[in-house]
Amino acid sequence: MAGYNALPLVVLAEHFAKLPGIGMKTAQRLAYFVMSMPEDEVEAFAEALIGAKKSVKRCRICQNLTEGEVCPICSDEKRDSSVICVVENPKDVSAFERTGEYKGVYHVLHGLISPIDGISPEQLMIKELLGRVSHGGVKEVIMATNPTVEGEATAIYISRLLKPLGVKVTRLAYGLPVGASLEYADEVTLFKALENRSEI
Ligand SMILES: [Zn+2]
Repeated sequence: MAGYNALPLVVLAEHFAKLPGIGMKTAQRLAYFVMSMPEDEVEAFAEALIGAKKSVKRCRICQNLTEGEVCPICSDEKRDSSVICVVENPKDVSAFERTGEYKGVYHVLHGLISPIDGISPEQLMIKELLGRVSHGGVKEVIMATNPTVEGEATAIYISRLLKPLGVKVTRLAYGLPVGASLEYADEVTLFKALENRSEI
């Protein structure tokens, strides 16, 4: 922001610019917009940010974001806990839930293995997944990471660790174009990918 701007505005814009997909121009516009908002709305916004960060944690079982110790999906007795769908992030859980067809449970990795970005397997929730499977009662693990280089590499890496545990490991049948993101797949495409999954 140019030097004639008040320092707090510059600081605010810099914070907005840290958000994904927000460039400096947009960040400045947002900072100006906040100045035009009624004070109580700005306060509610700030409280929502802090409140969400403080109260939302990772589910003890599946690592998805939730308010309690255990998320509503893991604590739902109608869900089939013998089938675990492994996804990159919480947004993917929402994508599968939108299909309304998947009755198993999830495991959120919180990222993909990516040497270029310096993300190693230890930084992901892989040992938590192995712990769940070795605890018993799991029949199938569906690798539902995106069909990207990182997504494929992560799926293969995890499947190699899972196989010795005697569990069936499957991969989504991607009608999804290579490089596409699950998050943007429509419900029908995602359901078909799930239905036609094959063992790896
Ligand atoms: Zn959970």
